[in-house]
Amino acid sequence: MLYPFEKYNECECESGNVKYPLYDGHGIFLSYACEACEKEVLEQFRNDVMEPYEADEPIDEE
Ligand SMILES: [Zn+2]
Repeated sequence: MLYPFEKYNECECESGNVKYPLYDGHGIFLSYACEACEKEVLEQFRNDVMEPYEADEPIDEE
């Protein structure tokens, strides 16, 4: 059964793989990627975005 939406989820890297959303260490959406290009895409966001924030912010100040 074919739908016109068949390629809707196909990754833009033309690998033919299904794309999925990538999130950084904070759960923030970065971009879409598939198994084939995920590493490349993450390279663009390499600035330790996959690392959780250090909890050194003064949040208990009164
Ligand atoms: Zn891809």
